[in-house]
Amino acid sequence: MCGIFGVTDNKDSSFLTYIALYSLQHRGQESCGIVSWGKKGFKYYNGMGLVQEVFNRDLISNLSGDFAIGHVRYSTTGSSTISNAQPLFLNTRFGEVAVAHNGNIINSNELKRELSRTGSIFQTTTDSEIIVHLISRSNKNNFIEALSEGLSKLKGAFSFVFLVENKIIAARDPWGFRPLVIGRKGKSFAFASETTALDSTGYDFIGEVEPGEIAVASNGKIKKTKYSKPDKFHRCIFEQVYFARPDSVVLDKTVAMTRYEIGKLLAAEFGKSDADIVSGVPDSGTSYALGFSKESGINYMPVFMKNHYAPRSFLQPQQSLREFIADLKLAPIKDFIKGKKIILIDDSLVRGTTSRKIVGKLKKAGAKKVYLLIASPPIRGSCFYGIDTPTKKELIANRMNLEEIRDFIGADKLYYISLKSLVKACGNGDKNFCTACFDRDYPIL
Ligand code: SF4
Repeated sequence: MCGIFGVTDNKDSSFLTYIALYSLQHRGQESCGIVSWGKKGFKYYNGMGLVQEVFNRDLISNLSGDFAIGHVRYSTTGSSTISNAQPLFLNTRFGEVAVAHNGNIINSNELKRELSRTGSIFQTTTDSEIIVHLISRSNKNNFIEALSEGLSKLKGAFSFVFLVENKIIAARDPWGFRPLVIGRKGKSFAFASETTALDSTGYDFIGEVEPGEIAVASNGKIKKTKYSKPDKFHRCIFEQVYFARPDSVVLDKTVAMTRYEIGKLLAAEFGKSDADIVSGVPDSGTSYALGFSKESGINYMPVFMKNHYAPRSFLQPQQSLREFIADLKLAPIKDFIKGKKIILIDDSLVRGTTSRKIVGKLKKAGAKKVYLLIASPPIRGSCFYGIDTPTKKELIANRMNLEEIRDFIGADKLYYISLKSLVKACGNGDKNFCTACFDRDYPIL
């Protein structure tokens, strides 16, 4: 997971990128960076930590120019160190280039081996650097042709923004795993991982970079070309289930509305219940619970207060940190819990350790019964496309059956929504999603 942003033809490009990164912070909290370009050439700054910790007013004003790209990082390939912080800024035979990447290149090891064998020296341990070497070593005459050639050698999930002097170039893999939207304000264009970044910077959403497409924006114009025959769309369905911000729009619907509709379908599948209240594990669980409440007629009540200043546990790379943070971030609201039979909805069940703690907190606060409902099917496959899911062995659904999981978690009932209902709520009826972590139907391997 990562968040990327790029903006053209705007004298406030770095400030806008800073604002955009702020609204994409949920996609990665390890490091962040901005590269700008203008009359004074390229300017570059990155650091470890949150956007508000890394940048200040002076640093932003020093990043002068009308063009900028930015990145917030959560590592899936390469360690969490400053040398791997993005945007990467490298010299190529076409001049200096900055690049920000979201996704995971699955043939990175073999490409790196081959590039190193023939003389490339890598400055980072990320898979993102590979594309810059491929561009630099291409025999093509211009950057776009070299980029097209390089992209077609990559397999996996990648949404890129490049800054090449007075151009921002955006590119997306032929499967469309990771999002990449386009915004416009007058003559200025913006590219972002989610529409929330366009909203926060005042850009109107005008479409997506389509699978297998390169979009070049500069001087008030945008030009799109296909570098590869696009495959069928394989959007990561987990974006809508968990990662994307509720106010972001995916397939013409806010993510909050999609989750609300998933909640309604979950209620229809679950059927009648003797529960007194329904609630969600904040934040993503709230929209699901509201939809469930509407469909079932069971009152919604918040049972947890989330500490918004604690990091997201799933985004922390170490298990020890994840467990500590899971404990810190949810406080039970005892008066809404005591003596109640509670339907609690969570977005997903990965290892089961967090759910066990959450159910334990409700029981300790006096809940009579806890029915845990999951707004996605059992996770049975690891993700190779940029989401840091655990190994197959660590996934609880691969180690236990439904009754054993329920018992491990300590819930009185456990129910997962069907994949059919999830796909129905997320999309337009077609299976245009990657659902491999649920059904192991991997679009590419
Ligand atoms: S395997 Fe799962 S998490 Fe990975 S891209 Fe597919 S749906 Fe998303």
